[in-house]
Amino acid sequence: MKIDRRCFLSLAIGAGAGIALSPLPWKLTDDLAIWTQNWQWTPVPKRGAAKTVNSVCTLCPGGCGISVRKIDDRAVKIEGMETHPVNRGGICTLGLCGLQLLYGPTRVKGPLKRVADRGKGQWMPITWDQAIREVTEKLSAIRKSGRPQSVATMSGASSATLDALLDRFGQAYGTPNTIRFPSVDDAYHLSVSLMSGGKARVAFDFEHAGYVLSFGAGLLDGWGSPVRMFKANALWKQSGVKLVQVEPRLSRTAAKADTWISIVPGSETALALAMAHVIISESLYQAEFVESCSEGMEGFKEFVAAKYTPDIAAKMTGVDAATITMLAREFAKSKRPIAVCGRGQGTIPGSMDMFMATQVLNALVGNLNQPGGVWFVTDQTMQEWPEVEPDAAAKAGLAYPRLDGAKGMVPLKRSLPNQFVQAVASGKDYPIEALLVIESNPLYTLNDTALVKQAFSKIPFIVSFSSFMDDTAAYADMILPNPVYLERMEDVIGASGFPYPTIGLSQPVVKPQCNTRHVGDVLIQLAKGLGDTMARAFAWKDFSACLEASLGDRFKTLKKSVFQVDKSYQPPAPNEIFASERFSFIPRGIQADVAFKPIAAEGDTGGYPLMLMAYDTMRLSNGYIGNPPFLTKILEDTVLKNQDCLIEINPKSAKAAGLDEGDRAEIQTPKGKALVRIHLDDGIMPGIVAIPRGLGHEAYDVYLAGKGINVNSLVGSLSDPISGFEAAWGIRAKLSKA
Ligand code: SF4
Repeated sequence: MKIDRRCFLSLAIGAGAGIALSPLPWKLTDDLAIWTQNWQWTPVPKRGAAKTVNSVCTLCPGGCGISVRKIDDRAVKIEGMETHPVNRGGICTLGLCGLQLLYGPTRVKGPLKRVADRGKGQWMPITWDQAIREVTEKLSAIRKSGRPQSVATMSGASSATLDALLDRFGQAYGTPNTIRFPSVDDAYHLSVSLMSGGKARVAFDFEHAGYVLSFGAGLLDGWGSPVRMFKANALWKQSGVKLVQVEPRLSRTAAKADTWISIVPGSETALALAMAHVIISESLYQAEFVESCSEGMEGFKEFVAAKYTPDIAAKMTGVDAATITMLAREFAKSKRPIAVCGRGQGTIPGSMDMFMATQVLNALVGNLNQPGGVWFVTDQTMQEWPEVEPDAAAKAGLAYPRLDGAKGMVPLKRSLPNQFVQAVASGKDYPIEALLVIESNPLYTLNDTALVKQAFSKIPFIVSFSSFMDDTAAYADMILPNPVYLERMEDVIGASGFPYPTIGLSQPVVKPQCNTRHVGDVLIQLAKGLGDTMARAFAWKDFSACLEASLGDRFKTLKKSVFQVDKSYQPPAPNEIFASERFSFIPRGIQADVAFKPIAAEGDTGGYPLMLMAYDTMRLSNGYIGNPPFLTKILEDTVLKNQDCLIEINPKSAKAAGLDEGDRAEIQTPKGKALVRIHLDDGIMPGIVAIPRGLGHEAYDVYLAGKGINVNSLVGSLSDPISGFEAAWGIRAKLSKA
């Protein structure tokens, strides 16, 4: 048919009318409108005065500086702060999604009191006056009855001043049970103490390293200061620095590494010790450091020669002896090599054998307190506050042992939440009558969640200070919501793994969006209400005055500058830091066999042929902060499909269990069972299955609740025999078709 101009126009008009009358474009437009507009809490660009406010992100221990763009009073975008030394303008996906936490539907809008059975989600809004009066009355009654030790706090607070305030509250009230959540930083800290007698934060001069050997540390999966690690990795790529990743699963870090060494989980210490054996027997170690700054080399040499030759270690690790020898030589002969450990993101401290074996490798190559090495950093400290004068009631309460048993261990401020929970659940010693939960979600994040629930069911009064309706808040008796990090002022001392002393002061970048009150203000008000010595110990007007007392002259400067960093910091030379106590290859007072003994996973191999491991990913927030909706939205189908959690399994192991891609299966461990979907993956060792951390919340919002499973509910708790830290890295498991 010939198409003339008239014909063309009528066709075009016809097509236009057809499209206009078809429902499809209107459906697409409607979908787009729903997607972009229907979340009332999604920032909608509008006209107004633009402004940028700097602050510090406290969503993880990374300590990044952020610049928040505002239009009038509304925050519309979070970016990395260009001048901040940790992240230098970068930001991670969680930091980017902070506005969804600020304006999202999961926030607790004001104080709430439970009005039905626990966990049923029925609440009555109450005023702050009523909330503080009722908590004060409860705490006062317990103290007057002579049982102050039966009040406990569990805190994951990142603020150094808030942390100190909680300790002070315990001291003045009379309870030893101030529990905080340790991390990989605490395990490193303890390894320094055990091996050198020193007391310092352990950091890594990654930017100047010449070779990086990681034993399972998810350096590009959210470990330490995640944005800093991405930038360090870019530097390594530019300058040809080799990254070797040792772990049983092809994580993002392993995929980006120059070499990935797949290893039997739990045998990393054996690999490190066999490498040490090669380095010593071939005299590849740094003789000057070993002779002038260390002790115990002879005993250690005999120990590894007898028990950790490459041939012996090959059977334990699944890594052949030639590879172990090659790796040892490569590490020792490289310029500025760093060995690092701390599984995944390092949120669970882990067992001390791995940390000490890693430090042995760093000591053998003499790369302690050297440029491009492992640094022992002394951070800035807070100003001293006037001493607490405990009264007779407080002294009586403080005479009780801590329920977690942490008291009397090495002179570090530590605590053991898992052991606290076990003690409460067992009912031994003495009961806990009231629990204050601050910036933590123990009912979700602690291993063996059934036991945690059992313990919490025995506590008659639980107060959550959470900003969000998280799993623990949903189970509490009262919620006294804290402002979120963009609405409050708090100090952050040091950044995880960062080799320079830093101090930051987060700023309220917007006015409080809900009827919240800072937990520090509430503690001060409770203390004043309790009167006498409590009131005297908390004489500050509010938390801001308390911060000023902690920071002294730095308070005003930090309010303007947001952070201070001492870039001129030089770690002491090795012979200075170890002048009084040398680096000890075998920690003093501990037998080598005990110090370097790995923790075996729970469960028998006969009944449970597979090993279940949890893994961390940057797309899932797995701690106190639940995933913002956008992060959940961008999860791959191989992690979460509809409501189902995908379990990674090697095709060979799946075939042996009669399972195929997409199959529904039941996973069972000695601690519980759950339904999952199978995802075949060649990047995971046969015999291992892996589930992400960060899914399976029972609370939060429609974007998170009921999606996937909480792997912590399948893994039991294991205590490290030296530190008592949570050391479970996996558990035996079996899979069957559902
Ligand atoms: S890495 Fe941590 S501190 Fe930095 S932006 Fe992300 S969540 Fe915030």
